[in-house]
Amino acid sequence: MAEIFITTDRRKILHVDLDAFYAQVEMRDNPLLRDKALIISGNPDETKGRGVVTTANYIARKLGVHSAMSAAEAKRLAPNAIFLSPNFNKYRIISKQIHDIFYTITNKVEPIALDEAYLDITELQQSSTEVAGYIRHEILRKTGLTSSIGVSHNKLLAKLGSKFNKPNGVTVITSENMLCFLDELAIGDFRGVGKKTREKFEKIHITNGAQLRGLTYEELRSLFGKMGENLYWQARGVHFGEVAWQRQQQSIGKEETFGQFLHDEADVQSEFRKLAVAMINVMKSRHLAGRTFNVKIRDDAFNTITRAITRESPWPLSEDLLVKNAQNIFEDVITLPFSIRLLGLSMSNLQSSTFEEMTLF
Ligand SMILES: [Mg+2]
Repeated sequence: MAEIFITTDRRKILHVDLDAFYAQVEMRDNPLLRDKALIISGNPDETKGRGVVTTANYIARKLGVHSAMSAAEAKRLAPNAIFLSPNFNKYRIISKQIHDIFYTITNKVEPIALDEAYLDITELQQSSTEVAGYIRHEILRKTGLTSSIGVSHNKLLAKLGSKFNKPNGVTVITSENMLCFLDELAIGDFRGVGKKTREKFEKIHITNGAQLRGLTYEELRSLFGKMGENLYWQARGVHFGEVAWQRQQQSIGKEETFGQFLHDEADVQSEFRKLAVAMINVMKSRHLAGRTFNVKIRDDAFNTITRAITRESPWPLSEDLLVKNAQNIFEDVITLPFSIRLLGLSMSNLQSSTFEEMTLF
């Protein structure tokens, strides 16, 4: 009997992934590398066969090279390949540029790697495909690099989608085309199916998603335990994991330690103002609002005082208002004369600010 699925999940989730990130950066910076097999790892000839492939370009991949493979094995598969040691400082700078683009769109970003993140854009007016197009365009414009994006209503499908159309592609998986997509997926492409699991499936003639979906929950559980239960839901495109953006973003703020301790109320006020401006700028750029305003004060004897004011609705991001509140707290807890070593302001209990005034296009 055919099963019928009705997807009630109305979220808009993107998975963004740069194509062969480290290799693409090196090819961008050195055009002579572009038509050669390029492997980002130490050269096994120089490292006595040690080393692991971090990334390979698509020419090397066609020869069977893939990340996590030993550099020595990669050398056997692609004897003429160029080996380059990774330059993580460079990749981190580019990664920051890419993540900054994500945060111009939403604060609901879950960074997965230097070149990879999930975005929950459910609250945006624009369609997912419009936003995906915009992100790819901005990444290309600002970094010269191509990316692939999976668009769907959950993280599982978004991730499978970005991988499906690599390099430089967008895959949209809707509740209508979801089962077709999953049915044709090779068993090894489901999440968590490694070599051993794949071989076990092949022994029972399960090689794709359609066949996987033919197995019952009990069959899968008895064969693969917890993993089997998970695959039962994967074959049906069901996944309720949330984009874990808050994990990254508990509070936003800044603190400053003073080489010359502060003794004067006017200096305290002007430092509070600098901290407030910095905090407000970050919050605005990330479309965040916060309900709890935190003030931290440390004196020259390392006594630290923290105070927080929580409101029912988010604090307006007004410099004057926040400085005034910080000053009031300061006057309450500090008596003259004082000698202040550190001041800090931060906002917690964060939530998305409204996207109304957002103009992406
Ligand atoms: Mg990548």
